[in-house]
Amino acid sequence: MTTKEINRRIDEIYIDTIKAYRMESSKAEADDWRKHFHAYPPAHLAKAIERWQATTEIDPYFNRPRGALFPRIADLLALLEKIGKEVTPPTKFKSCGRCNRDGWIFVEIRDSFGQPARGARRCECYREWARSRGVILAA
Ligand SMILES: [Zn+2]
Repeated sequence: MTTKEINRRIDEIYIDTIKAYRMESSKAEADDWRKHFHAYPPAHLAKAIERWQATTEIDPYFNRPRGALFPRIADLLALLEKIGKEVTPPTKFKSCGRCNRDGWIFVEIRDSFGQPARGARRCECYREWARSRGVILAA
């Protein structure tokens, strides 16, 4: 899945969730969802929302089942972490051949003094593999 496809899927899930709670969508909130959830498989996000909606624990402030309240990003992130651990397949990463066995591609860069230096970035195949396992990559 490309970043664009992931974002489109997150937008769809956001809109479905907004509708389910009969709320108004907001561009800022949709952007927040993209920002926080793009590192997770969209299928996990959909599952996190289903689980949230099934939460019957009473919210002490609103005195209503938590699942009846629109989920906060933090609520969904907590569920995504759980789901990621449950469904992570025990498959080992396999390089596409352009990167090394840990998914790194080494590139020539310039350091802060303008001198040639060796840099590394994660290969797209590694990012894809990590994403499928629900892992977030910092870089
Ligand atoms: Zn690769």
